[in-house]
Amino acid sequence: MPECACGCGEPTKKGKYLQGHEQQLRKQLEEKVGGLPLLASLVKVTQMYAQDRMSLEGLGRLVRLIYQKD
Ligand SMILES: [Zn+2]
Repeated sequence: MPECACGCGEPTKKGKYLQGHEQQLRKQLEEKVGGLPLLASLVKVTQMYAQDRMSLEGLGRLVRLIYQKD
């Protein structure tokens, strides 16, 4: 049986997620980064790096800034 894609380790009968777990995962990711706008920024900078539009050093600096919420 496939495992739920949220990382909880529970088996799913059908589909990628147990009921409600997709939304839980979305919420957890948002909270880990510090909100939806910061999550969008994180995706944007990693995408720029992947497309060779940013150096590794630049990526590192921006990722640290994004997580610097405390
Ligand atoms: Zn799950």
